[in-house]
Amino acid sequence: MKKICIECGEEITGRADKRFCSDNCRSSYNNRLNSDGTNFIRNINNILRKNRRILAELNPSGKARVHRDKLLERGFKFSYFTNEFVTKSGNTYRYCYDQGYLECDHDFFTLVIRKEYVE
Ligand SMILES: [Zn+2]
Repeated sequence: MKKICIECGEEITGRADKRFCSDNCRSSYNNRLNSDGTNFIRNINNILRKNRRILAELNPSGKARVHRDKLLERGFKFSYFTNEFVTKSGNTYRYCYDQGYLECDHDFFTLVIRKEYVE
C-alpha cells in the first residue's frame, strides 16, 4: 500500500511508519500545529478547564457558597466562562461547562452544577 505524506500529499518511500516525505514537511506540519492561533485557542481552553476544576473542587456536594477571594486565590479568571443563563428574576448564572456560579451579596458566590445541556 502506498503511503502519502500528510503534509504535501507526496508518496512516501522508505520505512512503513513514516508520516512525512521529508524533514521539511514534518517541521512545517508541526509548526502549523503550534501556530499562534492554535496556541491562543489552547490557552483559552486551559483557562476554562482550570476555572471548571476550581468550581468543582469548591462544590463537591452540588451547591456551595464561597467568597470571591477563595476563587481568586486559586487562580479563577472571571472573564472566562462558556455560557450565561439569566433567570426570570434577572439573576445571571455563569458557567464553565457544567459548573456554574451566581454572584450574591458582598462578594459571595453561590456555586451550582448543571446537569443538562440547554440551547
Ligand atoms: Zn511531504
